[in-house]
Amino acid sequence: MSNRVLFIAGNWKMNKTATEAVEILSELKKKVAEFEGKLNIAICPTFTALDRAVKATEGSNVAIGSQDISDKASGAYTGEISAEMLLDLGVKYAIIGHSERRQYHNESSEYVSKKAKFALDAGILPIVCIGETLEEREEGKMSNVITTQLKGSLAGLSADEVVKTTIAYEPIWAIGTGKTASPAQAQEVHALIRSLLTEAYGSVTAEKVIVQYGGSVKPGNSAELMGQKDIDGALVGGASLDPAVFAELIKNAL
Ligand code: PEP
Repeated sequence: MSNRVLFIAGNWKMNKTATEAVEILSELKKKVAEFEGKLNIAICPTFTALDRAVKATEGSNVAIGSQDISDKASGAYTGEISAEMLLDLGVKYAIIGHSERRQYHNESSEYVSKKAKFALDAGILPIVCIGETLEEREEGKMSNVITTQLKGSLAGLSADEVVKTTIAYEPIWAIGTGKTASPAQAQEVHALIRSLLTEAYGSVTAEKVIVQYGGSVKPGNSAELMGQKDIDGALVGGASLDPAVFAELIKNAL
């Protein structure tokens, strides 16, 4: 039995206006109030909804995260959002290196590690995403890809910083496709991640790190996935947009 506290986060991607976010979060916080103290819950809306999302969830057991963060503190970086700006709004987490950012914005693991460092320095907790493509899995490269991405994305972080970092294992072939990794397939990769963390930081640290699974998690599969030894939570896309569905997914996972 580990002492890790389950952590389920929703990634809304480029969906929902700030007005819609407030409506959904007002509903969600009522539905999940009964789970207070049993797990950590976060929603990561788009940047424009963050301020109102934080206010809408104040005093509840739903925390707010961003979907990205800059790797710079401040300055001439048009369009970027810094850790300090997010912290000022009351944002607690930042998703970093989501596969959609790696794919459409060419974000490398080195860049991801810089963002994670900035987030941690400011007091924002990173959710660092890694995951292989279907092609990489079919060619037998999954272990190599996960090893390289994990090491690169956490480069330069101390053991204390890694404990504050959530790792989200998201097989790219399972994101938004309706295809879920089987609990055994997911557990295999989570065990690999745990062993890589043990190698790099020692077992005491590795045992404390929350490793989420992401990829078509739904109310119907959250129990079995979260029941795996090294799966400590979920990063949820589509199923986090509806408060009733997300609350049911959480309930089943407990
Ligand atoms: C995600 O984008 O992080 C994700 C896991 O999406 P979905 O749950 O929709 O597959």
